[in-house]
Amino acid sequence: TEFVSANDLAALMDVSVNDVIKVCMQLGMFVSINQRLDAEAITIIADEFGYNVDFITSEEEQGLEDIVEENEEDLEERAPVVTIMGHVDHGKTSLLDYIRRANVTAGEAGGITQHIGAYKVKTESGRTITFLDTPGHEAFTAMRARGAKVTDVVIIVVAADDSVMPQTKEAINHAQAAGAPIIIALNKIDKPTANPDKVREELAQMNILVEEWGGKYQSQEVSAKTGLGIADLLEKVLLEAELLELKANPERQAIGTVIEASLDKGRGYVATVLVQTGTLQIGDVVLAGSHFGRVKAMTDHRGKKMKEAGPSTPIQLLGLDGAPQAGDKFVVMDSEREAREIASNRSQVQREQSLRTRKHITLDEIGRRL
Ligand code: GDP
Ligand code: MG
Repeated sequence: TEFVSANDLAALMDVSVNDVIKVCMQLGMFVSINQRLDAEAITIIADEFGYNVDFITSEEEQGLEDIVEENEEDLEERAPVVTIMGHVDHGKTSLLDYIRRANVTAGEAGGITQHIGAYKVKTESGRTITFLDTPGHEAFTAMRARGAKVTDVVIIVVAADDSVMPQTKEAINHAQAAGAPIIIALNKIDKPTANPDKVREELAQMNILVEEWGGKYQSQEVSAKTGLGIADLLEKVLLEAELLELKANPERQAIGTVIEASLDKGRGYVATVLVQTGTLQIGDVVLAGSHFGRVKAMTDHRGKKMKEAGPSTPIQLLGLDGAPQAGDKFVVMDSEREAREIASNRSQVQREQSLRTRKHITLDEIGRRL
């Protein structure tokens, strides 16, 4: 199926159609002004301009998001993707660790848990939630700066024995700018010095009024140490997610975002990716940023081998010819040749850009020294 023309796409992104065509040429895709583009091309081009394309129904008309339509009957509910943010030492890591440990289903227990930057858990009520286990909001900001929208719900952790801190405010600002709903976790409630009302008061002063006080923000007292309140926190995440009516089409070719990637001595390039729509399969040709490859193997955070990964599933994949950057979009393509060509053209463009930047920096420094 083909959707909008290159001209329409340029208008939607508020850039000139010449820039769109130029970028296409740099990537080795030759398009004309009125040529209608397929989903693959739209995703790739939009990505170059820092836009995300969501594959949703036409009812939700939000700028770019409605240019690629999916039939309502192809869409299925998907798990929410959650990021935990907050001030240093308020308990982000502890909370993520507790959730991961507590939500291991029978049969999986004892498996070696590896850090892959994201994991999926089953709650007590039998539903799934995907957590991005990235170091706080640095990754979140980096991804957002690159135009990647991966988080559906943000949990803001505030230590109840402390106060709303600068990074708490920053985290709230980031979440609000990203348009992600916020849930407040009042952590360290097990501590005798915990004073959650004081924190609620401070939050109210910055217009974050919690539900118990008549506001719109869900909050939950928790202890990442004892586990108190965590099951309730997860139910609140699911409640928030229900309002968002998160859906994706598991039948299409996978599209998603790179969470992290590195070179592993034994295994080669290893990338943790989040599948956002479609289903990723062994053998698929993947284009991710300026790298490409065929999926050789996929594992979940317990190291379990997977044959396929559907929407909202984070997996570690082997087979790329390099390490893409966090926030890079990945798409499955029909042709390996085309994927290779686009990847190589992108690296070329990046090399040229970095050369230009390097030159620029040198000149600046000389200027300053003079
Ligand atoms: P992060 O910097 O936000 O990732 O915070 P950490 O998870 O590293 O926690 C900072 C410190 O607070 C660690 O010493 C944790 O053991 C401790 N901590 C975290 N959550 C709790 C909690 O619920 N209760 C208590 N008593 N200590 C906690
Ligand atoms: Mg931490």
